[in-house]
Amino acid sequence: MSMKSVSPQTGQVLQEYATLTPEQLESRLSASQAAFESYRLSSPEDRTRWMMAAADALESRREELAVLATQEMGKTVESARQEVDKCAWVCRYYAEHAAEFLAPQPVQTAAQSAEVRYLPLGPVLAVMPWNFPYWQVFRFAAPTLMAGNTGLLKHASNVPGCALAIEEIFTEAGFPAGVFQTLLIGSRDVEGVLRDPRVRAVSLTGSEGAGRAVAGTAGQEIKPAVMELGGSDPFIVMPSADLDLAVQTAVNARTLNNGQSCIAAKRFLVHTDIYSAFEAKFVEKLAALRLGDPLEEGTDVGPLATASIRDELHEQVQDAVSKGARLLLGGELPSGGAGYHYPVTALADLTPEMQVWSEETFGPVALLFRVRDIDHALEIANGTRFGLSSSAWTQDSAEQERFIRDLDAGATFINAMSVSDPRLAFGGVKASGFGRELGREGILAFVNAKAVSIG
Ligand code: NDP
Repeated sequence: MSMKSVSPQTGQVLQEYATLTPEQLESRLSASQAAFESYRLSSPEDRTRWMMAAADALESRREELAVLATQEMGKTVESARQEVDKCAWVCRYYAEHAAEFLAPQPVQTAAQSAEVRYLPLGPVLAVMPWNFPYWQVFRFAAPTLMAGNTGLLKHASNVPGCALAIEEIFTEAGFPAGVFQTLLIGSRDVEGVLRDPRVRAVSLTGSEGAGRAVAGTAGQEIKPAVMELGGSDPFIVMPSADLDLAVQTAVNARTLNNGQSCIAAKRFLVHTDIYSAFEAKFVEKLAALRLGDPLEEGTDVGPLATASIRDELHEQVQDAVSKGARLLLGGELPSGGAGYHYPVTALADLTPEMQVWSEETFGPVALLFRVRDIDHALEIANGTRFGLSSSAWTQDSAEQERFIRDLDAGATFINAMSVSDPRLAFGGVKASGFGRELGREGILAFVNAKAVSIG
C-alpha cells in the first residue's frame, strides 16, 4: 500500500510513500510504550531543553518546510513560513510554561497534606488534518510531550512528506527514540490503533464525520479525547464598528489559508444600516486578491488542497445559486488549467434550504447576511450546529457583553478576527467538538490529575 503526495497546483503526483505494514505498525506502538516508561521519568529540564531544540530545528529548516507544505497542500509559501514560525512559538511557549501549568496544586482537607498532581497518561494518538500540516500537529505535540506523554501521529493522507518531516524535527531536537513517531497509515487503521490498550488517549482535528467515528471509538474504549472539528463561524458587524478595518479583516479572515481554516469567518452578518457599504467594499477587496501559484511570492490565494474539496465547495455554491442566492463574485470553475483552483466567491440573499446555510464551506466562499438588530444577528449566528469561534465588531460595550454572553461558541473575538494563540484555550461547542487545546487547558487535556492525600 502507498500514500501519494499530489500537487494541488498541477494535479501531478509529487512522491509516493509506502504505508506501514502491520508488523511495522506493531513495532512503532511497542516503541511508543517502551519510550513512555523512561520518558515519563525524564526531568522537566531535559524536556524543556529538547522542546527548545525542536523550536530551533523548525527555524533552521524554515524555508524547506514551508516549500514542502506549499507543494503538498497548496497554501501560499509566505503563509507556510508563518506557520513554521508559529510552531516554533508553541514549542517555546510550553517549554517555558509547562512547569508552572503542571505544578502540584495544594488543597486544604482534613489530611495532613493533600494536593493534585499532574502525571502523564502514556502514548497519545493524534489524528490530524492537512490544512495547517505543521501547526495542527505542534499545538498537540508541544503540550502533550511536555506533560511526559509520548505521541503517535496519524496525519492526513495527502501530507505524508510533512508528517515525516515532523518526526525528523523531534528526533533532531534530541527527544529519546520513540517519544514522537509518525504512523503512515490510512484512516481505516485508526480504530485498531485507538483500541490498542497501549494507546491511552486521542486528539483529532478534522471533519465532523471523522470526529464522530473517532470519538465513538474513544467512548467505547473509555479513553479521553479532544475533538476539534469544523466550524461555520459568524463575523458580525454592527453600525458602530470601524467599517474599513472590519472589511479588511473580513477579507483576511475568509481567505486565509485559501479559505481552508476551521476558524475562518465564513458567515458575515452585517447590520442593515451599514450593509450596502460593507457589501460593496468587501466584494471590491475580495475581487482584488491575486490568485495563482502558491509558490510565487505575492499570491494571495492558491489552489484548494484536493479535487474533492473543490468539487464539494462548487456543489455547495451551485446549490445556493440554483435556490436563488445572489452571486456577487466568483462561482465559476476555472476553464482549463491544471490543479484545484477555485475563485474567491461571495454569495448573498441566502435561505435555510440552501446547503451553505447550515454546512461548513471549506474554501474561499463568503456568505453575506443582512441583519435587523442584535437579536437577529444572534439568532442567525447561533442557528447552525457548529460553535467553534465567533467575531463581533462593535464599539458599544453593552453589545460587546451581549455577544460574549450569548454567542454559542468556544471563543468570541471582539473587533478582531479569530486566531489560535498558544496562550489562549482553543476549542468548540456543539458539533465543533469538545475539549480544549493550547493554554493551560491544552496541557491538562492529557494528564492524570492525581489526587494525593497524606494521612
Ligand atoms: P477529514 O476529517 O476526513 O481528515 C482529517 C483526519 O482524519 C485525517 O488524518 C484523516 O485521515 C482522518 N480521518 C478521516 N476519516 C476518519 C475516520 N473515519 N476514522 C479515523 N480517521 C479518519 O478531513 P478531509 O481532509 O476529508 O476534509 C473534509 C472536511 O473536513 C473539510 O471540508 C472540512 O469541513 C473539515 N476539516 C476541518 C478541519 C479543521 O481544522 N477543523 C481541517 C480539515 C478538514 P485520511 O486523510 O487518511 O483520510
